[in-house]
Amino acid sequence: MKAFAYVNATNEKEAIAALAKAERGRMLPMAGGMDLLGMMKDYIVSPERVVSIRNLDQTITSADGGLRIGAAVKIADLVEHAQARRLYPALVTAAEDVGTPQIRNVGTVGGNIMQRPRCWYFRNEEFNCLKKGGSRCFAVEGENQYHAIFGDGPCHIVHPSSLAVPVIAYGGRFRVAGPNGAREIDAGQFFQMPNQNLYGETVLQPDEIVTHVLLPAPGQRSATYEVRFKQSHDWPLAAASVNLVMSGLTVRSARVVMGAVAPIPWRAQAAERVLAGKAITEAIAAEAAAAAVAGARPMTGNAYKIQIAKTAVKRAILAASRA
Ligand SMILES: Cc1cc2nc3c(=O)[nH]c(=O)nc-3n(C[C@H](O)[C@H](O)[C@H](O)COP(=O)(O)OP(=O)(O)OC[C@H]3O[C@@H](n4cnc5c(N)ncnc54)[C@H](O)[C@@H]3O)c2cc1C
Ligand code: SF4
Repeated sequence: MKAFAYVNATNEKEAIAALAKAERGRMLPMAGGMDLLGMMKDYIVSPERVVSIRNLDQTITSADGGLRIGAAVKIADLVEHAQARRLYPALVTAAEDVGTPQIRNVGTVGGNIMQRPRCWYFRNEEFNCLKKGGSRCFAVEGENQYHAIFGDGPCHIVHPSSLAVPVIAYGGRFRVAGPNGAREIDAGQFFQMPNQNLYGETVLQPDEIVTHVLLPAPGQRSATYEVRFKQSHDWPLAAASVNLVMSGLTVRSARVVMGAVAPIPWRAQAAERVLAGKAITEAIAAEAAAAAVAGARPMTGNAYKIQIAKTAVKRAILAASRA
């Protein structure tokens, strides 16, 4: 690992001051450090200065009928939060499946949302792929069994954060802060496709940090369903979060978001249209799931993910309808 200077910011203001004038990659914020330190050890990023932001807000509070979750809240504390569990089961289910207890005890909500892609070519310093300024995506003709089935490249990563998927299903926003002040960004507009931003994954500027996740009042029924390789601690192969606003037994409106299938959390509006105005039955859930994956374009080694994604959507819808 390259030597770096370390700044321990004691609050949001100090963190922003320390990151101000940052050029991309030269100064980086560190929360739990689990993802960042691994990337530094593998020379994927080599910041000159690391700014600890562990002292950002670590509270979960009620706000505007919803919840305001500090970026420095540990994933384990989100899992234990009674109000979050009662009102946002899709988020808490996703949180309790992240990694292992050790990972959830160190990893923060902000760090989880901002974690970098897991593509093995990206994580290996031997491969100077497109995303690192090289000329080709090695996944296209290489090992792509865990890569995207939506999005058409030119980089075929899948978005890694399990928490971002339900946050978008709930219509959440991110509060971000930088030297020019704070702003709120619709979580559904926060993540960017590779053809919009090849070297990063979000609209966040290098001198900004995520300070809070803001959740509006949830729909009456919601759930997340993830499919993993055995009961392992690894990232899901495919996931889906569903948030239903009900009128009696009929779905008034739905949000269906898929994880681990595209470079960003992938909203399935075709599935949402199938659900709107219907009562949920097994057949309707299956029809919505089929609509969700209708546009999938697998790579050479990952066509199996279409069925898995379809199953995740169907089971998330059925789980939400029973919640
Ligand atoms: C074996 C294993 C299994 C895992 N399984 C899963 C899984 O199933 N699902 C899942 O979602 N994750 C999974 N993870 C990832 C893990 O949850 C993340 O590494 C962790 O949440 C990162 O949190 P952190 O606080 O340590 O972030 P850090 O490592 O400190 O930061 C991660 C990145 O985000 C940036 N950053 C951090 N906080 C902020 C902020 N507030 N504003 C702006 N930028 C910020 C950092 O600069 C860095 O680039 C797994 C990890 C491991 C090791
Ligand atoms: S999928 Fe993206 S990160 Fe992975 S090799 Fe291709 S360009 Fe690089």
